[in-house]
Amino acid sequence: MLDIKIKNQLIEVVGQNRYLDRKEELACFSYDAFIKEAMPDAVVFVQTADEVARILKVASEHKVPVTGRGAGTSVCGAPIPVKNGIVLCFSKMDKIIEINTADRYIVVEPGVVNADIQNALAPSGFFYPPDPGSMNTSTIGGNIAQNAGGPRCLKYGVTMDYILGMEVVLASGKIVKFGSKNIKDVTGYKLCSLFCGSEGTLGLVTQVILKVLPIPETVKTMLVTFGKLDHTARAVSDIIGSGILPAAMELMDKMTVNAIEDSSHLGLDRKAEGTLLIEIDGVKEACEKEMDNIIERVKKQGALDIQYAQTPEDRERLWTARRSAYGVFAKLAPDILSEDVTVPVSKVPVMIKRINKIGERHGLKIGVLAHAGDGNMHPLIPADRNNKEEWVRVEKAFDEIFHAAAELDGTLSGEHGIGLAKSDYLPLVMNKDTIELMSRIKHAVDPDNILNPGKFV
Ligand SMILES: Cc1cc2nc3c(=O)[nH]c(=O)nc-3n(C[C@H](O)[C@H](O)[C@H](O)COP(=O)(O)OP(=O)(O)OC[C@H]3O[C@@H](n4cnc5c(N)ncnc54)[C@H](O)[C@@H]3O)c2cc1C
Repeated sequence: MLDIKIKNQLIEVVGQNRYLDRKEELACFSYDAFIKEAMPDAVVFVQTADEVARILKVASEHKVPVTGRGAGTSVCGAPIPVKNGIVLCFSKMDKIIEINTADRYIVVEPGVVNADIQNALAPSGFFYPPDPGSMNTSTIGGNIAQNAGGPRCLKYGVTMDYILGMEVVLASGKIVKFGSKNIKDVTGYKLCSLFCGSEGTLGLVTQVILKVLPIPETVKTMLVTFGKLDHTARAVSDIIGSGILPAAMELMDKMTVNAIEDSSHLGLDRKAEGTLLIEIDGVKEACEKEMDNIIERVKKQGALDIQYAQTPEDRERLWTARRSAYGVFAKLAPDILSEDVTVPVSKVPVMIKRINKIGERHGLKIGVLAHAGDGNMHPLIPADRNNKEEWVRVEKAFDEIFHAAAELDGTLSGEHGIGLAKSDYLPLVMNKDTIELMSRIKHAVDPDNILNPGKFV
């Protein structure tokens, strides 16, 4: 519980209506989509950068931890307030401040939901490329803090590639601004890169300028099935290795497709061991040529069937199937552990074999869902954390998956971040001096360690 003096100082900033500290209210902010929980002492809903600054001044004065929160969809425990303190919730800072397609940027507050940006831009023929599976819920502040990706990041890149400028409140309560509304800006350190992906441990984002792109003239979507998962993975590395760059190339194994069909009856082939959802976009003639090239290559790798999306509704049906995967897995068992390792794309077939072997060795069913074109894989294990013996096997399997990814020159996260889930594994992909450098940066901007303490730094 917070000291009454601190409570009163916080209420002075946000008012009684935007301050919560009843146990049943706090419980709603104690978890995300990972498997751990921790209760905050208070939750405040902010509306302006000035309020964020004043709250951080109070928190710094009393050395109270502050954890930012968007929609709480993180799957790595990033917004869980493990050291208690204040959860600072951005859901009411949800304004789109400016849309400027002539100069190709938008300015938004951090609580804006990703899909609301897409919907606001569409009438003017523009889009914001990063499209996490959680886009209908997750906020741009959370996307920035986790450097979120999504299916079309294969061609277009992740959140960081679209940040032109930011306003950030530091632990001291100082408001800093960097970057600008210019597509080209190499003035000083690239601080946007430092704060993006920092999981709320360096500062709290209160405004952001994002680059936007014109919607491509043509989009073509197809679903290809294979009799063997191995063939599916080989088709992925063949297409990417040939120099074709699809907008998205999503791989689903048999377990994933069956989980989707059980829940949504979308007409996917339950018998296929591997399914690829491939999308290309751009100028019509170029798309047609690329499509022919892809068809030739998937046939060479043993494709069983190719389905084309004939209408926008068809395309939506295929994407609904893919986007629902995480949710339908969650229905298979009381808990679901989803991971996010990445390997160089030529090593996708080997990594999938390693994941399958790990599953067999531990008697676990591991679903494989992947943004396969960029080597980003989400092995998913439905399990029950109350079954202690099973849970030990689940943890051992993930431990081996992280080691396998590191051995294949891969990395621990392609988009979900580190949070609580993977901080112990950092030494697999970073040496001691690099980890220490991150700690020094953290200490320089947050000397009392009040911002999201207990996470990866
Ligand atoms: C079904 C499902 C599908 C998903 N698909 C994808 C996917 O395809 N790609 C992907 O990358 N992720 C995906 N995720 C993970 C998750 O949605 C992303 O990490 C997302 O970016 C989190 O946004 P959020 O608003 O929910 O943030 P939260 O979960 O609330 O917070 C995440 C982190 O951001 C920090 N934070 C929040 N707001 C701010 C701020 N204003 N300033 C500083 N720090 C802040 C928090 O402290 C925390 O560390 C998925 C999750 C689910 C449940």
